[in-house]
Amino acid sequence: MCGFYCATARGREISAEEYIAQFEHVMDAVDLEDYPVISIYNDGNIFNEREMPVAAIEKICSYINGYENIKKVVVESRIDYSPDEHVAKMKKALNGRQLEVAFGFESADTRVMNLCINKGFSANNFDHFHSRMQGMGVLTKPLLLVKPPFLTEAEATNDILRTISYCVSRGIDYVDLEVTTVEKHTVVHELWKNDLYRPPWLWSLIDLLQRCQERFGDRAHVYVSPWTYSVESLDWARNCGRCDAGIIKAIEQYNRHFDLAVFEGLDCSCRHDEWEEAFAKEDPRSIQERIAEQLSYVQNARMSSV
Ligand SMILES: [Zn+2]
Repeated sequence: MCGFYCATARGREISAEEYIAQFEHVMDAVDLEDYPVISIYNDGNIFNEREMPVAAIEKICSYINGYENIKKVVVESRIDYSPDEHVAKMKKALNGRQLEVAFGFESADTRVMNLCINKGFSANNFDHFHSRMQGMGVLTKPLLLVKPPFLTEAEATNDILRTISYCVSRGIDYVDLEVTTVEKHTVVHELWKNDLYRPPWLWSLIDLLQRCQERFGDRAHVYVSPWTYSVESLDWARNCGRCDAGIIKAIEQYNRHFDLAVFEGLDCSCRHDEWEEAFAKEDPRSIQERIAEQLSYVQNARMSSV
């Protein structure tokens, strides 16, 4: 589902000097003293030396050290690298400031991870990573993927619910929901063109947040990341079109205080017609069968269009 390749330097290495110059540009443009939390987000894996040289991280941290008001720095990494050494250096350079590592955990379900997302690691890797980071005094923030391909609407929301339960059991009380969009040059795009994928309904997101509240209360704070990513999307979480704007506004309000009261009174005929029908729809096939059938359908459609 991830079309971020289009937002990369396509293999050209970015030098430490270029990263540092970028940060200096931001320091000139914005007064970082106004921001207690800053995110150094490289749209990838900050602890991969080939993506981001350690010298750049250290220099940027030394700049951050000059701002007394900055209390916390957030970065993003994959967890199947062994970032301990990098993390230790960064922690030291930040001079006691809190460091939070966000990472795409996506799902605690091995089948979803391996088959639907092709992520390359499992919940076990996450456990190791989380306990190592905890031992170093670093916060972790799992990013969970809402509605990967090959799952029904109900399966996708139940998967998130189970994954949050898993995170809560590990003592993590903040998670981010990353909502799948349709981006070019991805499997999801091919499925979507053939009516085999639809991004989640906004009603599903609200339903999910309400069920989280019932189940976990204050043990889980669930933030809905805005689905405007670094690359253009062709389709995104939506309802019927008439009620979307009001619901997106309510989700933005919800994100500020995690208060579900903002969703009270929201309604639309599409909730009782199309969404309930979509949510009740089951797929008796195994995930393997769905993948095999859907990919061969896509392939045939491509062949016949040539
Ligand atoms: Zn509607």
